[in-house]
Amino acid sequence: MINLEALFKISYGIYIISSGDSTKGNGFVSNTALQVTSEPIKVAICSNKNNFTDELIKKHGAFSISILSQETAPETFGKFGYKSGKDFNKMDGSKIKYGSTGVPIVLDDAIAYMECKLLQTIDIGSHLLFVGELLNSEIIDATKQPITYAYYREVKKGHSPKNAPTYQTPEIEGTTIDKDAKKYKCVVCSYIYDEATEKTKFTDLPYFWICPLCGSDKTKFSETP
Ligand code: FE
Repeated sequence: MINLEALFKISYGIYIISSGDSTKGNGFVSNTALQVTSEPIKVAICSNKNNFTDELIKKHGAFSISILSQETAPETFGKFGYKSGKDFNKMDGSKIKYGSTGVPIVLDDAIAYMECKLLQTIDIGSHLLFVGELLNSEIIDATKQPITYAYYREVKKGHSPKNAPTYQTPEIEGTTIDKDAKKYKCVVCSYIYDEATEKTKFTDLPYFWICPLCGSDKTKFSETP
């Protein structure tokens, strides 16, 4: 038997995998990056075949991994996680460093990075497994903790409304919110805003409130059953 719940017990970090050069770079949010050998140090990453970054990794023969902190801004997830680099250059407006191979390394919200030379590309069906040799790695911020996938899904999502300015609104539990509570879904990332648990009506959130998962604004939400 397969119990899918067991798969959720695997621990992952969250990273931005990047490739390209100073004229055209791209990166995407990934939870699969792992060291696979120690002599020499090899690191593997996994990427969906639809990812634009795949083409850049194959073309340039290198990739970088930025390890994100627990305090990563929603905008960073929104930019690198839910938008395609085919449409615009994701590196524009981000803090970027170029490695010895010429690949961009995203420094936004990163606590450390690794730069790898591509050694092997393995076709595993829907995804490609890239194995690279570590060329360079550096700590960017030793004071912050790396974000885990579990933290991203549970803690960050659960606490984000506290960051919204409306957190100060009066306690409305027990009033109309309970029986009239509605749910709103982000059309970009499928995050659900549930008025019953957030204790704040969606319409009362300020115009500058953004999706805690992907950074989309309120206009990207629609009511859902
Ligand atoms: Fe979203």
